[in-house]
Amino acid sequence: MLLIKNGRVMDPKSGLDQVCDVLVQDGKIIKIAPEIKEEVAEVLDATGLVVAPGLVDIHVHFREPGQTHKEDIHTGALAAAAGGFTTVVMMANTSPTISDVETLQEALKSAAKEKINVKTVATITKNFNGQDLTDFRTLLEAGAVGFSDDGIPLESSKVVKEAMEEAKKLNTFISLHEEDPGLNGILGFNENIAKEHFHICGATGVAEYAVMARDVMIAYATKAHVHIQHLSKEESVKVVEFAQGIGAQVTAEVAPQHFSKTEALLLTQGSNAKMNPPLRLESDRRAVIEGLKSGVITVIATDHAPHHADEKNVEDITKAPSGMTGLETSLSLGLTFLVEAGELSLMELLEKMTYNPAKLYNFEAGYLTENGPADITIFDAKADRLVDSHFASKAANSPFIGETLKGQVKYTICKGQIVYQN
Ligand SMILES: [Zn+2]
Repeated sequence: MLLIKNGRVMDPKSGLDQVCDVLVQDGKIIKIAPEIKEEVAEVLDATGLVVAPGLVDIHVHFREPGQTHKEDIHTGALAAAAGGFTTVVMMANTSPTISDVETLQEALKSAAKEKINVKTVATITKNFNGQDLTDFRTLLEAGAVGFSDDGIPLESSKVVKEAMEEAKKLNTFISLHEEDPGLNGILGFNENIAKEHFHICGATGVAEYAVMARDVMIAYATKAHVHIQHLSKEESVKVVEFAQGIGAQVTAEVAPQHFSKTEALLLTQGSNAKMNPPLRLESDRRAVIEGLKSGVITVIATDHAPHHADEKNVEDITKAPSGMTGLETSLSLGLTFLVEAGELSLMELLEKMTYNPAKLYNFEAGYLTENGPADITIFDAKADRLVDSHFASKAANSPFIGETLKGQVKYTICKGQIVYQN
């Protein structure tokens, strides 16, 4: 048994926000009450700390199989635990891609060894060919939790429609990375700074919101559920809001970097600030925050994208791969740029990092209740934290190194076991 004493217990599902004790046994929460007097072997003093549901991240890249010099499922899971996450969903752009049952089972076998819950989507199209759908039914039965070709946007509207129809039939959904290559220049650089500073054609806004507009309207027509990944443009928020307004089943996520920073970060942080979609303008940053506040965007997801330093530190920044390691800074970015900034309450932030993403996938996670799972994150919401380059992830490609942010994870507990402590 494990007893967590005197923490500020916050549960976005029930609205509970009270100093309480939490008693854990056999992977379950067995009691939440103002004072639990029980003789137990292990007591955690959570005085002054927040006791929240284990964080849930539905968008991570763990690079296994194929690119394990960047990250593997084990180090990815350690990074997740260090960031306060107890459930993650891996993307399928591995090498080979997770497009068949054999590769899926290989990934799930590694995932099952981890102390946190590591789940994965499968690809929408076979080996990302953009043309032929994978066998959704068989992949779901084998343990895939959803479908995404994240990293390679779907160009064919016919394929998008077929995928949505198939997903609807099977009571699941597809997740889409929205950047139309036909409308884009060099990825990872927002069009403004690309032109002014790097003298290249960068990643345009229209490449994101135009294809998004197409896809949400296909979702409207097919009555399928589509989830929009990491939207970054002001217009994209409006597109999603419009689609939701006419009754389309559209949900959306934003990555912490997009509500925290703008394209200017490229000038100081170089390739570590290069990502797809890119960091945008201040007006876009404001718009995604407004989308979080209004409820148009219900989920915060990291797009944790580790890369090796040698790959990021190439002389020609346009050749560096896109993406940043994100699991170990996500909570702090939310606390700093949303809660401290007065944009969201702490409960609203937690809802978007726990209950909402879990609900999207019907996971038994993201809430604190008696008889519920003992997946718990305990953190200091007020502590100042200087981000350094020591991560549990194999990678350190974070543009936030050297920055002082709010918040420090103290304990991550998954299935009743302490899986991280600081
Ligand atoms: Zn993506």
